[in-house]
Amino acid sequence: MDVLKKVPVREQDPKIRATNFKEVCLGYNMEEAQEEASRCIQCKNPKCVAGCPVSIDIPGFIKEIVNGDVETSFKVLGKYSSLPAVCGRVCPQESQCEERCIRGIKGDPVSIGKLERFAADWAMEHEIKPEMPKEFNGRKVAVIGAGPAGLTCAGDLAKLGYDVTIFEALHEPGGVLVYGIPEFRLPKDDVVKKEINNVKALGVKIETNVVIGKSTTIDELMEEEGFEAVFIGSGAGLPKFMGIPGENANGVFSANEYLTRSNLMKAFDNSYDTPIIAGKKVAVVGGGNVAMDAARTALRLGAEVYIVYRRGEEELPARIEEVHHAKEEGIIFKLLTNPKEILVNENGWVSGMLCVEMELGEPDESGRRKPVEKKDSDFIIELDTVIMSLGTSPNPLISSTTRGLNTNKYKCIIADEETGLTSREGVFAGGDAVTGAATVILAMGAGKAAAVGIDNYLKSK
Ligand SMILES: Cc1cc2nc3c(=O)[nH]c(=O)nc-3n(C[C@H](O)[C@H](O)[C@H](O)COP(=O)(O)OP(=O)(O)OC[C@H]3O[C@@H](n4cnc5c(N)ncnc54)[C@H](O)[C@@H]3O)c2cc1C
Ligand code: SF4
Repeated sequence: MDVLKKVPVREQDPKIRATNFKEVCLGYNMEEAQEEASRCIQCKNPKCVAGCPVSIDIPGFIKEIVNGDVETSFKVLGKYSSLPAVCGRVCPQESQCEERCIRGIKGDPVSIGKLERFAADWAMEHEIKPEMPKEFNGRKVAVIGAGPAGLTCAGDLAKLGYDVTIFEALHEPGGVLVYGIPEFRLPKDDVVKKEINNVKALGVKIETNVVIGKSTTIDELMEEEGFEAVFIGSGAGLPKFMGIPGENANGVFSANEYLTRSNLMKAFDNSYDTPIIAGKKVAVVGGGNVAMDAARTALRLGAEVYIVYRRGEEELPARIEEVHHAKEEGIIFKLLTNPKEILVNENGWVSGMLCVEMELGEPDESGRRKPVEKKDSDFIIELDTVIMSLGTSPNPLISSTTRGLNTNKYKCIIADEETGLTSREGVFAGGDAVTGAATVILAMGAGKAAAVGIDNYLKSK
């Protein structure tokens, strides 16, 4: 064994996986996990922990894998995260815990994410449940949204003995984990549902098909339904568009709509009735995780797919692993390219996209070099489908129907970073609804912080 190198993880062959929706990464088996875990040198002052937004005891859970006691390893993880099988799959470890791992100085960092996934999957297979709350205090807390922020906040409050109800607008709990991230990265029945069931096992009730701001309001929950505190984890699901000509044509989607049809409404599965336009030549505009997911979904539905992104490879905001997988599967990257107009045929359908080549100029306010148009470099890509993946913002429905709830200019709810407290007494918020589109683990961290904030608030009342 070369201790400087990670134990490679098994994956589906790119040619085969490009034609199916099964999970790409197959994970470690016991032997591989123990070999990889033994690369951790159990640092006294572990830098990896400082890189984790929820400060998981990383050497602690890894040590138990080395010992062969995976149940204890899972219990260590469970103290910090109610969704370890999800985080092990989708967290950007390369820019968090693994980036700081001391092993990374001379060789590969320890595969912390793959080990987390291993321990969580093993616990699911062996039906190990999280520890139940010791006693209930009967005080009612409402959580809005069953995404990572809401589920984490609800789980932590239930562990403290609160009577927690989550109100979720969609018919399935999970937020982006069920409607956004595709099956081939995050299996729904085998992973997401099982981890949500662990949260329910703590006593958390989940009411689906309840849109707060329409079906009922936060004011009604607090004044008429007896909820003493509310946590808002409603995410940032409102898509942005470019505002270029042709964007209203048939065949133009937001990535959110395209992915929701495929993931939540199962359009990829022929036994479901949900319609989706698979497209033969598809362009996805954007370079983040969402763009990679939309592109790889369109590829699996049978299309030739282009990623069109106005900056270069180094600036792609998607995880390196996702870009690597997308390339392996045959996605064509048109970098330093910006759309100017979507071309539309006589029937109102997309027929192509007029683009311009870009080059990188001086750094802008984000610190990244600003893309500027190259003169006389217009060109056309022939297409039948365009998927816009330019980011999302919070839906203003809740803020506009709740008295005294302040938002910033981007419609994000203003909340204290440490406690989640908003401008409205008894109302807390966290996750994408506060930060704008971010990551699963940051949303979970905000849910955890707010659970502590709510507990302190209710104890002092
Ligand atoms: C396609 C895609 C891929 C991604 N890939 C990654 C990745 O690989 N790694 C990563 O870390 N992050 C990734 N992200 C980002 C990550 O998923 C989000 O940052 C995270 O899910 C935010 O969690 P949240 O709980 O704040 O919100 P969400 O997950 O958005 O959950 C919010 C929930 O609130 C519900 N809701 C909204 N309004 C109401 C209302 N009025 N009443 C009741 N319920 C309501 C919504 O239906 C939803 O279920 C990805 C995002 C997308 C879209
Ligand atoms: S920094 Fe790396 S080697 Fe050190 S404890 Fe963390 S995972 Fe183990």
